[in-house]
Amino acid sequence: MKTIYFDNAATTRVTEPVLQAALPYLSKSYGNPSSTHQMGIEAKQAIETARKQCAKAINAKPEQIFFTSGATESNNLVARQGLILSSPYEHPSMKTGETWTDLKSDLDDFKSRGTKNLVVSQMMVNNELGAVFDVASTAEQAHKRGYKFHTDASQAFGHIRVDVKVIDCDYLSLSGSKIHAPKGVGLLYIKDPKDFCSPIIGGGQEKGIRSGTENVFGIVALGKAMKLYKYTPEKAEYCYKLKCNLISGLAKKCPVEFRINEIEGLKHVNNIANISFRGINGESLQILLSYAGFCVSTGSACHSASLEPSAVIKALGLSKEYQLGTIRVSFSEENTIEEVGAFVDKACEIISTLMKIKN
Ligand code: PMP
Repeated sequence: MKTIYFDNAATTRVTEPVLQAALPYLSKSYGNPSSTHQMGIEAKQAIETARKQCAKAINAKPEQIFFTSGATESNNLVARQGLILSSPYEHPSMKTGETWTDLKSDLDDFKSRGTKNLVVSQMMVNNELGAVFDVASTAEQAHKRGYKFHTDASQAFGHIRVDVKVIDCDYLSLSGSKIHAPKGVGLLYIKDPKDFCSPIIGGGQEKGIRSGTENVFGIVALGKAMKLYKYTPEKAEYCYKLKCNLISGLAKKCPVEFRINEIEGLKHVNNIANISFRGINGESLQILLSYAGFCVSTGSACHSASLEPSAVIKALGLSKEYQLGTIRVSFSEENTIEEVGAFVDKACEIISTLMKIKN
């Protein structure tokens, strides 16, 4: 049975060019980048090439890029720079401080109370719904009051333009796992690294900001992936076609009512479709799809296997019969229209069966 993978917001496949670029650093040039012999120098040079590739892809300078084990670690490093004031939609790794209800008045409150070292944080793209937030405007609000701004761009890179100068962020996190690099590698962009205070004590790698022997394989892969898979209008257009086919296919064939979950007034990326089927159990649908060879997730698969609807889904204010019938379908440029067609057919067949069992 062929597996059709529609869970790219959870993680992506390491593609052949990325793998081939990085493989030599596992078995041939496996020196420690801190060693001063030939093998160490080769590894160090590979890291610096990757740093340049990553910097270029987000319009930063190489000396502003610090490699980490992923976005969770990058977010946690930022959380040590002050009190975090984050949006209600953040990944759990960024929910370490306060959550704003009304950004401007909450910021004014902090200012009037004399709070220093506040770091405002808002993800660029939400991992469950694909909603695109206006992070440049949030950054402006933070800076107006003398506060720093961080954005988690893990779900944005490759799907919308990510440019640190346009956003005007002080910090930006990225995860390799979402962009065809391996799991366990990521980066943190720091606009002004000399002000950064790292909680990690060790050998002083990454200019003391992220001590620990570097994951050379992962870093080289990340550099290559950021070079190859950055946003292009053509790629966004292709994912838009996949998403339109999915929605129109379901509109034609789905035996129950369904809705595409979005945040009103916001744009949404083309690679994520969050769908609720009325009266259907999303967990059962996901499991039966998995038996049939289709990988999708319920809620937000990357952090929980909970049977409760996620906080993001709950916040949409849907009725319970829609809430529990939610799945997330997420594409990459490797998916095809034919795969979408096969998915629509199988999902509708399973939904019919689930309805029969229920009635
Ligand atoms: N932020 C967002 C928006 C994510 O979607 C994820 C992955 N689910 C993370 C952070 C965590 O990334 P990593 O697994 O690389 O630590």
